[in-house]
Amino acid sequence: NQPLYAIYGASGCGRGIMPLARIQLQNAGIQLSKLVFIDDNATASEINGHQVLSYASFLKHDARQRFVAIAIANSAVREKLSLQCLADGITPWAVTANNVVTMDNVVIGEGALLSPFVTITSNIRIGKYFHANLYSYVEHDCIIGDYVTFAPGVKCNGNVVIEDHAYIGSGAVIKQGKPGAPLVIGRGAVIGMGAVVTKNVAAGATVVGNPAKPLVKN
Ligand code: UDP
Repeated sequence: NQPLYAIYGASGCGRGIMPLARIQLQNAGIQLSKLVFIDDNATASEINGHQVLSYASFLKHDARQRFVAIAIANSAVREKLSLQCLADGITPWAVTANNVVTMDNVVIGEGALLSPFVTITSNIRIGKYFHANLYSYVEHDCIIGDYVTFAPGVKCNGNVVIEDHAYIGSGAVIKQGKPGAPLVIGRGAVIGMGAVVTKNVAAGATVVGNPAKPLVKN
């Protein structure tokens, strides 16, 4: 009756997080048979050496405590599943690659997934269920909300505020704000791949290009 650990989502994001979770448990001396995927649409019973369970069957397994890391990039799905897990008494689980660098006075909420080569410098607050994919960084004095997603290679410079559910595409660069006058990316905004964000982005907006401008749909 040992604890059971799971990566929720057995697609691209989950399969990138699983090896990091495995190292974390190995370092803690926990048996790898206690580390599974949860996926509600799985077509295989095993992926990359780990059992794949539906959420319902995960709940039925005998375990003293259940830990789940939600490795699904879509932030609305992440929020929904995090609330479902909370209601079922599951403990949120954070997974951090062993070469992540965090500096002074960094506070990160529950359930964060920090991929290899992520750097989070000093005086930074980050909300719940943050995803920072490969090689992304957060510079000094940033405030990041809940369910924010960084694709690989995001460069978030200092004095930036990113509100809940924003999605920052791969390779985007966010210009630094000023102390007391941060650059603000609004709730649910989407920043396109490679965008160079030089000014505030409205809540819900999608911006692309250099300098980043609202996407005009034809
Ligand atoms: N998924 C799930 N339950 C849900 C929603 C999604 O098990 O309620 C799984 C879905 O079956 C898929 C994965 O989460 O395997 C999401 O994968 P996707 O390729 O859409 O995104 P990514 O891995 O890039 O986050």
